[in-house]
Amino acid sequence: MKENLAFMLLALEYSSLALPLCRPNPPVGCVIVHKGKVVAKGFTQSPGHHHAEIEAISKLTVPISECELFVTLEPCSFQGRTPSCARILAKMKPKHVYIAMKDPHPRNRGAGLSILKSAGVNYTLGIGEKDVNDFLSSYLQTS
Ligand SMILES: [Zn+2]
Repeated sequence: MKENLAFMLLALEYSSLALPLCRPNPPVGCVIVHKGKVVAKGFTQSPGHHHAEIEAISKLTVPISECELFVTLEPCSFQGRTPSCARILAKMKPKHVYIAMKDPHPRNRGAGLSILKSAGVNYTLGIGEKDVNDFLSSYLQTS
């Protein structure tokens, strides 16, 4: 859907605000949509602080079960300096998660998607992938 691409491109635009403070984490953006309207946005905070998804969720004032999340990168599957975003989403159960691209990080690579799937959280992968990849790829850890 055209609208969904527009929401993802908005998340992409917002993600650039994460730089430079998010480093060495990748600059990820998240937009939360409720009944067709953007109700919260987030981007990767400095290390040890919220990732994009959790930053956006922290600003929500409507039930997340009624919301769609648009996030530029696969939610992290592992606990680093912060808890795993995929596990948090698995617990909170948003209505749908749109993800632009898989995270090539050796500790993610689809593991975040598996966590969502096992929890019964519906997601769509690949929306806006080319645009997101053009911006994000050079910041991603691949080995
Ligand atoms: Zn995360």
